Amino acid sequence: MIPPTHPRYRSLLEREKIVEGAREGYVALQGLIAQGRGECFDYLIGEETQPFAQRAIEAAAAALLAARRPVISVNGNVAALAPGDVVRLAKAVPALIEVNLFYRTREREKKIAEILRRHGAEEVLGVGEDAACTIPELFSERRRVSCRGIYTADVVLVPLEDGDRTEALRKMGKTVIAIDLNPLSRTARAASITIVDNVTRALPRLVEAVENLKKDRSQIQDILARYNNSAVLAEALLHIKTRLEKIASEML
Ligand code: ATP
Ligand code: MG
Repeated sequence: MIPPTHPRYRSLLEREKIVEGAREGYVALQGLIAQGRGECFDYLIGEETQPFAQRAIEAAAAALLAARRPVISVNGNVAALAPGDVVRLAKAVPALIEVNLFYRTREREKKIAEILRRHGAEEVLGVGEDAACTIPELFSERRRVSCRGIYTADVVLVPLEDGDRTEALRKMGKTVIAIDLNPLSRTARAASITIVDNVTRALPRLVEAVENLKKDRSQIQDILARYNNSAVLAEALLHIKTRLEKIASEML
């Protein structure tokens, strides 16, 4: 048990969820490493949603609401960390949910779909025979997606995706929204909209942004036209630089 008074309580709790997911067999071992890399960037960012992330969240809400076929892609880490938020977001938009795994096995697909259903999802795509379409230019199991889901989607939200797949989805002409704590990753740079924030903070805020924007859809096109992803990534890097300089100067 982690005492709630521990200064890193939230981070440690999230780590425990990932470890539990690995024990239960639906988080890949590589998922443990991904979480560690994310924790490191969260430390640098300050473990809070920063203004550049909030701007990307608002653009993401606009893109999801403007989409004809929006799909939320879910992997093991996301299922372990924020299954309830995924379902809430899917209902708010509304969007389809698809299990989309880098290390795809039938068992992991089923377990993740089960978790999502337990949290209220009605339909979960990308399980078993449903993942019958292939993303061009990718190899092995990583290229398999649902023909009714990611394959035909115009907007795909990929919390924690790898760079190759993000690039391949962009080449297919899709708008890709990534949630990635690392502003330097290929995913962050290849995505159309990159939310540099922890999925556990970004998803509830994204649900809220969707609910607000739904009340006044007239802003959607403006938000999308104004949005500049390179500027958001540059701001994330400059935020880290300034923050580290400030911390260092306080030590001197
Ligand atoms: P690239 O995008 O350059 O191909 P990668 O995808 O190979 O890099 P991985 O370590 O496989 O990198 O992916 C994990 C990514 O997800 C990392 O960039 C990490 O910062 C990010 N990440 C991990 N946990 C979280 C989280 N809880 N919230 C947001 N981002 C996270
Ligand atoms: Mg990545």
